[in-house]
Amino acid sequence: MADKRDYYEVLGVHRNAAEPEIKKAFRKMAVQYHPDKNPGDKAAEEKFKELTEAYEVLSDPQKRAQYDQFGHAGLNGGGFSSAGFGAGSPFGDIFGDIFGDIFGGGGNGGRQRSRGRRGDDLQYNLQISFEEAATGTEKQVEIPYAKRCNTCSGSGAKPGTEPKTCPTCKGAGQVRFQQGFFSVSKTCNQCNGEGRIIDNPCSDCRGAGSVRDRKTLTVKVPAGVETGIRLKLTGEGGQGTKGGGNGDLYVYIEVREHPIFKREGNDVICETPISFTQAALGCELEIPTLEGKVAMKIPEGTQTGKIFRLRGKGIQSLQGYGKGDQLVVLRVETPTNLSSRQRELLEEFAQLSGEEVNPQNKNFFDKVKEMFS
Ligand SMILES: [Zn+2]
Ligand SMILES: [Zn+2]
Repeated sequence: MADKRDYYEVLGVHRNAAEPEIKKAFRKMAVQYHPDKNPGDKAAEEKFKELTEAYEVLSDPQKRAQYDQFGHAGLNGGGFSSAGFGAGSPFGDIFGDIFGDIFGGGGNGGRQRSRGRRGDDLQYNLQISFEEAATGTEKQVEIPYAKRCNTCSGSGAKPGTEPKTCPTCKGAGQVRFQQGFFSVSKTCNQCNGEGRIIDNPCSDCRGAGSVRDRKTLTVKVPAGVETGIRLKLTGEGGQGTKGGGNGDLYVYIEVREHPIFKREGNDVICETPISFTQAALGCELEIPTLEGKVAMKIPEGTQTGKIFRLRGKGIQSLQGYGKGDQLVVLRVETPTNLSSRQRELLEEFAQLSGEEVNPQNKNFFDKVKEMFS
């Protein structure tokens, strides 16, 4: 602790400087020397630590007075550093301001606790079928949630009594202390972050201010949803206490797999097996779609992998307009377990056709010939 620099010198302010001036000076220099802006720079780190310490003392009228009178010795060897800072301390404020700026948010931990408490956001996983996702549906869901206790109107205190402000954190719910050269805040132990203490708890909610309950809601699922889509039901989460707003309910959609349909964008893919004779001779097939069966003509000489498009038989776009198609992908099956008669016929068929019958086959062997010529 030896050879500490004068705190006024550290901040570059006059001994008579008013509080706003000290704050301004600290703010300016803290931003300049912040470790995030000077990664790996030991000197900047030391400087920042020194600034923080100086400001901690000079921003507190009581500590400043002690320091003015007794110098560093008056501060009891830095014992202030673990004492914790209430929300009312200017230090709490400036950390909120400055670090909020630097870190893009956060930093306001101690300041907005003790008033209303917003209800919890809730999550519900909703499974629906492929068809329901395609056309939209309405589902009843039962949701457990925290409901404001009617007996105490959410205060948690026995009717006729009041919760009192926590003396340790002065209602902030958080205490600040020094860790290294950082001031960090942590949940107040005495009140568990509530900011208040209830001496006579409400007997119905045992001081919680809320009770467990269940509610049934109708969730409108729009046509076109997919797995992973999140529907937000504003205000349908847990109830807030002490005037805090309700939380929201988030419904996560999970679409079950379909035995024959797959989805690609708004198109429905359906692989359809046909026999090689159907493919060769042509036929009429009954194809299942989301809207029932439709008849489809398969021309003779159809190859495996051929895709037929049924316009407008796909899925309604989630954006509200337009509809996908159904793609019918044909898979020609090679016959197995031939009877001797079938084998005879196929052998005869092969003799008759040679390679000429199969245009793709012929094409392929022409290319092989080229390769080796
Ligand atoms: Zn209650
Ligand atoms: Zn507390």
